[in-house]
Amino acid sequence: FAINMEQLVLEHELGRGNYGTVKKVLHKPTKVAMAMKEIRLELDSTRLNGILMELDVLHRAVSPFIVEFYGAFFVESCVYYCMEYMDGGSLASLCCFPNGNVSLPPSLSSSPGSAWTSSPAPLAEEHLGRIASSMTKGLAFLKDHLGVMHRDVKPTNVLVNRKGEIKLCDFGVSGQLEKSIARTNVGCQSYMAPERIKGSSPSSSNVDDAFTSYTVSADVWSLGLSIVEIARGKYPYPPETYENVFAQLSAIVDGEAPGLPDDDDDDSSLTADVSENGDGRPVGRKWSPEARDWVRRCLIKNADERATYPGLLAHPWMKMDAERNADMADWAARAIEWRDRGRRGFAIYE
Ligand code: ADP
Repeated sequence: FAINMEQLVLEHELGRGNYGTVKKVLHKPTKVAMAMKEIRLELDSTRLNGILMELDVLHRAVSPFIVEFYGAFFVESCVYYCMEYMDGGSLASLCCFPNGNVSLPPSLSSSPGSAWTSSPAPLAEEHLGRIASSMTKGLAFLKDHLGVMHRDVKPTNVLVNRKGEIKLCDFGVSGQLEKSIARTNVGCQSYMAPERIKGSSPSSSNVDDAFTSYTVSADVWSLGLSIVEIARGKYPYPPETYENVFAQLSAIVDGEAPGLPDDDDDDSSLTADVSENGDGRPVGRKWSPEARDWVRRCLIKNADERATYPGLLAHPWMKMDAERNADMADWAARAIEWRDRGRRGFAIYE
């Protein structure tokens, strides 16, 4: 069946992306809660219909590691895209902090009994392992079953729910949609593999060039970088600044690839109060050699030597994940609570 606007009750806004807003909606006929993304495009109805036809392949993208697609329609010059509602939001909102600083302002962190600082959501290796295996299985599914690469792997495009499921969204199935929103070079943190940065000329207006000059291994790089960011709590490359707009891109192309932080490496932004769980057992800071090696294989700068999905899935770290029963629902609940308390805390502080 086809979804249309009349069937939907609009609820609150869930977030804003680079090219549209996402709202929570209720689909009246089925009573299913959905997330609806609005993408504003200045296109005629022939082109909009073309995009809808291309999006139709998403009905085949049924996997536990992919956010389910319910349907798309357009009204005037906006495409509305309805998908599974993920009640935990993005991994970025749960694990990544823009300034790499998760400590509270002194006035709040020193307040006695502050629940926000005493009930953190540390990310232990078992959680990181499950996130990595879910993302890899999602990407391998897109490649094997739909014959597409993702093209925009990053922590904001990985969604979480309270069941503890980790699913990918926002992948590039519609070439026409890609071209219309020109999603390359948006945002101030690049997840692009070195070969994508080298292969795309910033002055080129031909987006098609940029889409054909790299392959699925570019997504493997972005996967590895996302895992490093999630583990560290912050994006590992320097920010782009007004003084040096290419600082970040040249670090990706010319610098040493980042990895999981060493045990004694203070680079991890997580402060002491999030390095222990309820039992006082340190978690999250001691990444196994297997985890480090898995990430290292994703972040090999030469695309031909970089890991493939079958290679990553057969890696000892993924075997460890399969044998472990990571309690992702418990982690998700704590991470969501911690994030939402932090938001409330900052709202009070501001
Ligand atoms: P971006 O352009 O940065 O990729 P999106 O437009 O895809 O961002 O989404 C913006 C925000 O909306 C996300 O960061 C997330 O918090 C929220 N969001 C997107 N899709 C969903 C969904 N299916 N369920 C719940 N929240 C969502």
